[in-house]
Amino acid sequence: MGNVDRLNRQILNAYWIVAAMVFVVELSYFLTGNGGEGRADLVSLTVGSLLVLTVAALGELLHASFRRYGRQIVAGVSLTMAYINYLNLGLYTENAPGILLIFPMFVPLIYFDGKLLNLFGTANIALYAAFYFIVERPVYGREIEHFLLMEFMLAAALLLGRTVLIRAIEIGRQVEHLTKSQQDLLVDNAVSQRLIKTDALTQLYNHQTFYEYLEDLVDQCKRNGLQIQVAVLDIDNFKKINDTYGHLIGDLVLKEVSIRIRMTISPNDFAARYGGEEFAVIFTEKTPEESAAYAERIREAVQGANYSYMGNHPVTISVGLSECLPDDTPESLFGKADAALYRAKRSGKNRVEKYDASRDTVSRRE
Ligand code: GH3
Ligand code: MG
Ligand code: MG
Repeated sequence: MGNVDRLNRQILNAYWIVAAMVFVVELSYFLTGNGGEGRADLVSLTVGSLLVLTVAALGELLHASFRRYGRQIVAGVSLTMAYINYLNLGLYTENAPGILLIFPMFVPLIYFDGKLLNLFGTANIALYAAFYFIVERPVYGREIEHFLLMEFMLAAALLLGRTVLIRAIEIGRQVEHLTKSQQDLLVDNAVSQRLIKTDALTQLYNHQTFYEYLEDLVDQCKRNGLQIQVAVLDIDNFKKINDTYGHLIGDLVLKEVSIRIRMTISPNDFAARYGGEEFAVIFTEKTPEESAAYAERIREAVQGANYSYMGNHPVTISVGLSECLPDDTPESLFGKADAALYRAKRSGKNRVEKYDASRDTVSRRE
């Protein structure tokens, strides 16, 4: 059930309650004869009650059949019901409470519907004038001051309702504005977080973020035995590319290599631009053999990419790979991959080498 449907239901329920309460009052007047006028008899009590029941039931029926006009039907039933109750009570007492006729003004307010309020508010004022001159004055002999007082009350209720509505709409706008500002702030925050963490040229994570993740993951490796491997990738003879084709073309190559890296790794892996023409990948939840295969695939992808803007000049990378062991630190893990990369460069470039303690010497570098 939608919000408006639920509202309609609640208001219709309230009608039944009001109808029942008015009936109790009428019955009490009827039984005790306290009203004084004695216009009511069993017939008018029965007819009046049946009329209320009919209008309430008709309201239910119309509401169930024409859901699109739910609020108009609910407001219409409320107005009709108010007049019937007022008329019925008038049979028992001269003091039929005028507030009964003001209630329908609240219904459009519940929906925050200004048009409905204007429509039913003015209809109510006109209807009361007709009711007074056709029924209340000739039948009940009500004095003109009563009519004036009632009309003033109805007009005041309409004006008050409009003020409440304007205020409510104003507050609604303020809330909307605040929510919007809050959303904008969240988006700005997400964007700046991304900018802080990534490298502008390649859109890969930057050096600092790489070390933040590496620290967390090495921690997981030590505590929970999470399998991680680190690859350091360096473009071969990049200086020559820059020297031959210029820095802008060099940048295009950096972007292309980054795309190949990103396209090849799995969603669990983490790729960063370590600096210059050097990249780093953290492989997670893979065996050393699997990550070696991934590193090999990246190497092939870089070699196989299209570099037509520099006459298909070959671009290759060398990769060093290391595996996290329980006594590793982020620095030692990176150092081992870097030592393996150094060997890959020395032994001819365009290859992947795994760290080998008997052949590689780890040296510290930033
Ligand atoms: P090796 O095969 O041994 O790796 O040789 P290399 O020429 O690739 O390595 P070297 O360290 O001698 O040169 C790296 C060059 O990368 C030098 C530097 O000007 C260039 N470079 C660093 N950052 C950027 C960048 O953002 N854009 C461009 N176009 N070049 C960069
Ligand atoms: Mg290089
Ligand atoms: Mg380098």
